[in-house]
Amino acid sequence: MTARFDQGPWAAAGVQTVQPGVHRVPLPLPNDGLHAVNVYLLEDLDDDGGLVMIDGGWAIPEARKTLEEALAAIDRDPGDISHILVTHIHRDHYTHAVELRRLLGSRVYLGAGERPGLEMLDRLRSDQPVGSLRTLRAAGAGELADRIEGMDHGGYDPSVWEAPDRWLGAETLRFGDRELRVVPTPGHTKGHVVFLDERRGLLFSGDHVLPHITPSIGFELAEPGGRPLADYLDSLRLMTRYADARLLPAHGPVTDSAHSRVAELLGHHDDRLAGSLTALGEDTLDAHAVARRLTWTRRAVPFGSLNAFNQMLAVNETAAHLDVLVLREKVAVAFADGVNQYTRVR
Ligand SMILES: [Zn+2]
Repeated sequence: MTARFDQGPWAAAGVQTVQPGVHRVPLPLPNDGLHAVNVYLLEDLDDDGGLVMIDGGWAIPEARKTLEEALAAIDRDPGDISHILVTHIHRDHYTHAVELRRLLGSRVYLGAGERPGLEMLDRLRSDQPVGSLRTLRAAGAGELADRIEGMDHGGYDPSVWEAPDRWLGAETLRFGDRELRVVPTPGHTKGHVVFLDERRGLLFSGDHVLPHITPSIGFELAEPGGRPLADYLDSLRLMTRYADARLLPAHGPVTDSAHSRVAELLGHHDDRLAGSLTALGEDTLDAHAVARRLTWTRRAVPFGSLNAFNQMLAVNETAAHLDVLVLREKVAVAFADGVNQYTRVR
């Protein structure tokens, strides 16, 4: 199969068989900086049962076509997909699962922590990232929030936001001879879960642990609030309580050790926490002002050269770091005129 993506080998269309009966299939995304989203197809090698799919992809026609070609390459067809386990509610993971269910009758599973957000989305009927926009305004970036609100988000399509067949908690799922432990890992979203196959040493990590990038924290379509970064750091440390496993992420290549990447991500956030404190300095500032004093992405670009969407993620991420510093009593926060103002504790 020829590559249809030029952004990097991991995103090239095709099938990578990670181990017998476990296949990684990158599906295309529209216009997205992430290049592709991996879905995983799990075969039951004992009986000729259905296929379990982990993550669904983004509901675009190119994704379905790429999936159909991948299934043909392993002598399967779409009707074999009996269960779709989705790591979190973001559009690039959930919406295609809902569409496939309509076409194929597959059962869709999603973490129970996503339920309030999904129900709120259903009430709001909005294609705006309402939750993140609210966080953005409290971070002192009202003008940026207005700008994002004025952009075309593609319209709200209720048909791709239908509820799953089953909400998942901390439990073990069995499909034929395969056991998957569901581990709730709030942080990237409130209801993110990972799937751990302990016998085979595989961690299907969704966007919780990514090999090349640091996952955004708390980008919520609906319900804002909570303590996303503190939750995320706890969810990272939780991974080290299980035996190390190969990392099968939703974006990026398969790598050998989930634990080593977890250690890097924890180190990254330690650096960012220290950097946020330094950027705040002796001033009283909102998160937007602190974000403008920091550099962004692995290439350390200034805040001003990010596009509006990434500026939103950057401001909200800064707010999340400052809120962890508040929990650790290194920073104090006061809410005035709808904006959180942070000051270093002396
Ligand atoms: Zn994603």
